[in-house]
Amino acid sequence: MQKKRLKLKKQAQRYIIIIIALIIFTIIGVKCYKTYKYHQTNTYHLLQKGYNNDEVNLITTKANDAIDYILNNEYNPKIISIINEKYFLAKNLEKYLDFWQKQEDEELKDIIAMVNTHANEKWYTEKLETDINKNEKMLVNKFYALNENYAPKNLKNISLDYSYGTEGENKLIDYAYDAFQDLWQSANKEGYYLMVTSSYRTYEEQKEIYDYRKETQGERKADETAARPGNSEHQTGLVVDMTSIKEPSSTEFKESNAYKWLQENAYKYGFIERYPENKTYITGYEPESWHWRYVGKEIAKAMHEEQITFDEYYAFYLE
Ligand SMILES: [Zn+2]
Repeated sequence: MQKKRLKLKKQAQRYIIIIIALIIFTIIGVKCYKTYKYHQTNTYHLLQKGYNNDEVNLITTKANDAIDYILNNEYNPKIISIINEKYFLAKNLEKYLDFWQKQEDEELKDIIAMVNTHANEKWYTEKLETDINKNEKMLVNKFYALNENYAPKNLKNISLDYSYGTEGENKLIDYAYDAFQDLWQSANKEGYYLMVTSSYRTYEEQKEIYDYRKETQGERKADETAARPGNSEHQTGLVVDMTSIKEPSSTEFKESNAYKWLQENAYKYGFIERYPENKTYITGYEPESWHWRYVGKEIAKAMHEEQITFDEYYAFYLE
């Protein structure tokens, strides 16, 4: 009897040992697996490269689309500076680094703006197609062009009360014209009498303007003062060139209170100054105080607050 009890006790002890051993092995196994799994993560690899916790966080939240490039290259503090920029786009990381290396004196925010808008390339070298489905948000510049067949629908004649030329010479897309009339009325209440000098232009008309300048002044000069056909915003039907009755010449208008009023208020009606001062390196155009583009109230307001060009806005928010 006693022998039997002793045998049972020993057997029980053996089972307990086996169970404990199993538990220990399981714990070790799970731990090993977890470590193995952790070693596969981007976080682990980034830390191994020398990025600190904050930097790893920044990379994994804002630059996931560029993670392969970052993991395949050495630790680079420039990457962190770039990601911290407001208008950073992960898809452009390599281009920023490349361009920054070539333009070391340039401010980083300008590097970002130029790469985002293609302005790091020579004007007209990249030929991109304007997305006309974006309507009043479409981009036309020295890289994005409309084709020769594009003509906006629903053009309306601008009244001769606000425009020079003959009846039907100046046109805008209907909704942009409505917004323009609201803007005009408000300006008028403040004592400014705005006049449209140019607006919608067909591809052919732009071609005539450009070809004439190219013939008489050469390509380089022509490119400084006129857009190439397809690359003119006037073909969108969303643009007015304006002056004021009191200050009809562009030099006078630039110094006028009417222009100042537009700079402070046009956004409320959905219009933006398309080629502002100090932005030639992005837009490719010398300042044009007369050229106003309709983009809709929401975008115009955001651009007014952020003080960026439409090229920058488009690259970051719309493309
Ligand atoms: Zn213009």
